[in-house]
Amino acid sequence: MQPSKNYVIKKTFSFKIILFTSLSILTVLSFYNNAFAFDVKQAPAVKPEIAQIQPKAVAVNINATPLSMTLKKPTVQQGQYFEVDIIGAEKNPLVWFNSESFLAFQVGDKAYKALIPVENLTKPGNYVILARTGGWEEKIPVKVLDNRKPIQYIYLDPDKSSLEATNKEINEISSALRLKTEEKYAQGKFSYPSTAVKSSPFGVKRSYNKGPIDSYHKGLDFAGKMGSPVFAPADGKVALTGLEKDGFQVHGNTILIDHGHALSSIYLHLSKIDVKKGDMVTKGQKIGEVGHTGISTGPHLHWGTYLYGTSVDPELFVK
Ligand SMILES: [Zn+2]
Repeated sequence: MQPSKNYVIKKTFSFKIILFTSLSILTVLSFYNNAFAFDVKQAPAVKPEIAQIQPKAVAVNINATPLSMTLKKPTVQQGQYFEVDIIGAEKNPLVWFNSESFLAFQVGDKAYKALIPVENLTKPGNYVILARTGGWEEKIPVKVLDNRKPIQYIYLDPDKSSLEATNKEINEISSALRLKTEEKYAQGKFSYPSTAVKSSPFGVKRSYNKGPIDSYHKGLDFAGKMGSPVFAPADGKVALTGLEKDGFQVHGNTILIDHGHALSSIYLHLSKIDVKKGDMVTKGQKIGEVGHTGISTGPHLHWGTYLYGTSVDPELFVK
């Protein structure tokens, strides 16, 4: 029996379907296999790249955060400081005030701070604080007020008043005051370095032995008794000790503490020094004793605080 033409067609058709289906399955399997191979073999090479790209995209968004400067107070008195905060900076910005520049210190992620000193003899009036980093700069108008400190007439023993500071004490103190330590040792408010009563405030204009009023009191005095304890008012590192017998003939026996971020404190006229250069001191630690060394009218502690080497009122750090 001859197969009918219909049967041949059907059979051919069935064969074509089987062939097509087989090829399709092979194609799908092949594709799946490739896809599988791609996932398994290529994935480790590709996925880390993707993982690396994503944080970069996030970093770009952070970079887009605008830089900005804020001042805690736009008006301060002579002998005080401007507290400047800058956020969004990639590196330490420079801050200008009254033709001087000051390096701001990092206090957080892209956050910087600078305490800009206003010298006690700065002419009262309007000024500008300018901050700059990279291509960015910002200016804020500020005002300096007269602190109206009284004038003090001081009479010194002729033997002592004839003494002049030696190059040794001038050079050693001025270089220690220029330290700009990135590490901030002092945290929070200061305590007083003496429990004695205060005898002379910071900033009082001075005339020595009826001379001209061309200086001022660069610290806060305590009428401590001879040998009474002197304490570190905050954590820090001893940057200098000097002895009257080694040339500190005006300052007397001296300790200078670096508190970090361009803030330092000085202790003069001591009778005894308990620390040495390089020592780390902690708030409340006894560092020496009150004395009458150097140019001094009697036993007392002279306590000075400095920002970037400029004398500012110690009371600002205690309050
Ligand atoms: Zn003093």
